[in-house]
Amino acid sequence: MSEPPPGPIATTDYGPNRPVVCEHCDWRYLYPAGNSPDLCPHCFAGRLMPFDPAGGDPGHDVAPELMIPFTLSAEELERRLRQFVQGIPFAPADLKVRNLRARRQPYFLPVWLVDAAVQARWRAEMGFHYDVVSHQDRFEERQGGWTSREVRETRIRWESRCGSLERTYPNITAPALEEHDRLRQQLGEFPHEWARPFDTVAAAGRGWRLPGRSAADAWPDCLPPLMEMARDECRRAARADHVRQFQWTIGTVDRNWTFLLLPVYSTYYRDDEGVPRRLLIHGVSGRIAGERRSSPRRAGRVSLILATLALLLLLLGLTGLLLGRSIDPLLPVGVFSCLAGICTGLGALYPLVRAWQFNRRPSAPPLS
Ligand SMILES: [Zn+2]
Repeated sequence: MSEPPPGPIATTDYGPNRPVVCEHCDWRYLYPAGNSPDLCPHCFAGRLMPFDPAGGDPGHDVAPELMIPFTLSAEELERRLRQFVQGIPFAPADLKVRNLRARRQPYFLPVWLVDAAVQARWRAEMGFHYDVVSHQDRFEERQGGWTSREVRETRIRWESRCGSLERTYPNITAPALEEHDRLRQQLGEFPHEWARPFDTVAAAGRGWRLPGRSAADAWPDCLPPLMEMARDECRRAARADHVRQFQWTIGTVDRNWTFLLLPVYSTYYRDDEGVPRRLLIHGVSGRIAGERRSSPRRAGRVSLILATLALLLLLLGLTGLLLGRSIDPLLPVGVFSCLAGICTGLGALYPLVRAWQFNRRPSAPPLS
């Protein structure tokens, strides 16, 4: 790592695109002029305002070179949304498939790809399998004496090795956003082999999130996977079965950066307090990241109805018991009504407890 990383080609000319920033969450986007939505597609809580990125993050001054197109079919999107909504007890009134569908916003998330041509020296311990054959003797009375059994055991012989490597590692992913790892965990991988050259026609007027990190900032994140690949290559070159204590010293590294765009949809539903709960949808697989929440307010309403019913049954039952002293047939009606009232009263707690339990269960953390 003798020289600073050559970053992507700088281009401060945004052409027909306009940089906008969310006044609530500070996410920054580039949208074709006239195509920018009013609300931020990340938080749905702030308006998108034009801003001047001059003197801002150097990650802003790059143009996308590759994109993965949106290939999620309408049927698959519908199926995924239904799956998301189903099974939520006392779901918020706003959590409807048609709302999620109507509010969805397509845009791209940025990621860096780097081809790294590395020259390095390495040192490691290589482990080679070898077999040890021994014999176990045991005395068995039923078999009339001693029997011998061959035992074959595989062991590892460790040898120190060192060498040099000169290799090019293509398409190493490097985060362009601080949230990259969490988003990848929640949404899954994108098929990088589907990437194609970026063009505005294929992007169909969709905007993209501007990188939060420059290529230079992202480079340290590439080193662990690079070392892992080099480690495995050296093991294979040495025809070893294991490798440990791998160390390498990079002499020179040439980097060729590519700015790739990943397709996502975002949408939202409002919870009891009217706060937007965001969902992010993978633009290829349809996998959804977002918080599934029950509505304590709706559960409370059902509990209130059940509690009122329980009170009425109890009042009816008590009246029946009082009148039953003089009119015999009303006595069993009173007892039954009291019992029904007690059971309904206990059942009135269920909706509240169920909603509370559902919201407390461990789930994927909300997107931030
Ligand atoms: Zn926002």
